Amino acid sequence: MRILVSNDDGIYSPGIVALAEVARRFGEVRIVAPDVEQSSMGHAITASRPLGYRRTPIGDFEAYRVNGTPADCVALGVDQWGGADLVLSGINLGTNLGTEIWHSGTVAAAKQATILGLRGIAFSTAVDDQEPEFGRLRPQIEEVLQLLTPQASLRLLNVNLPADSRGIQWTRQSVRRYDPKMVGIKDPRGRDRFWFTVTPVGQADPGTDRWAFEQGWISITPLSLDLTDHEALQGAAKTPRDQT
Ligand code: MN
Repeated sequence: MRILVSNDDGIYSPGIVALAEVARRFGEVRIVAPDVEQSSMGHAITASRPLGYRRTPIGDFEAYRVNGTPADCVALGVDQWGGADLVLSGINLGTNLGTEIWHSGTVAAAKQATILGLRGIAFSTAVDDQEPEFGRLRPQIEEVLQLLTPQASLRLLNVNLPADSRGIQWTRQSVRRYDPKMVGIKDPRGRDRFWFTVTPVGQADPGTDRWAFEQGWISITPLSLDLTDHEALQGAAKTPRDQT
């Protein structure tokens, strides 16, 4: 099995090596990742300039850095490798739970795999002022890959790893209210500048990714490329046109 490993934190992030080291027990690994951090870039692609693809071995991993987004890295990496079976993204330094999934570059890399007809799995973990203990995350990643790799019908998965795991929970995306705030500051010349911060509001609903993660479970959420609101579509299709 050919496993392409990418991320959005950049090719020199310690998280990508931790993921690649576990991935190599499951197949042939190649790392293709952004040359600089691309967190919160979502599923952006670089369409207005050409991309570079530079060989950058990391340890004994075959690795390439790309001056583009996570989605660029997966598209270009799969193309240059002549195909792959599975794309792993991460381990992101920071969770990707609930609405964070919308702007996550980590999830976008896995999503791009699915768009290419491959399977994609995104891995994220929480960070505080300490670097995550990757040694403790490795058994969790192995457990998740052992569970997921035989299940070919699972095409796109979002995995969040707590520091200490109680086990695995299958979850749905938490879409409870978030509080996106612009926090104003002054730059050294006294000009207004702004930080975009997003804070979850209230308790997570049971069964959601955030709930499971906060309870110390590994959260695995199967995602879909289809953004259609099927309930709304059904309702709309039933409404006679002269009533709309
Ligand atoms: Mn990131």
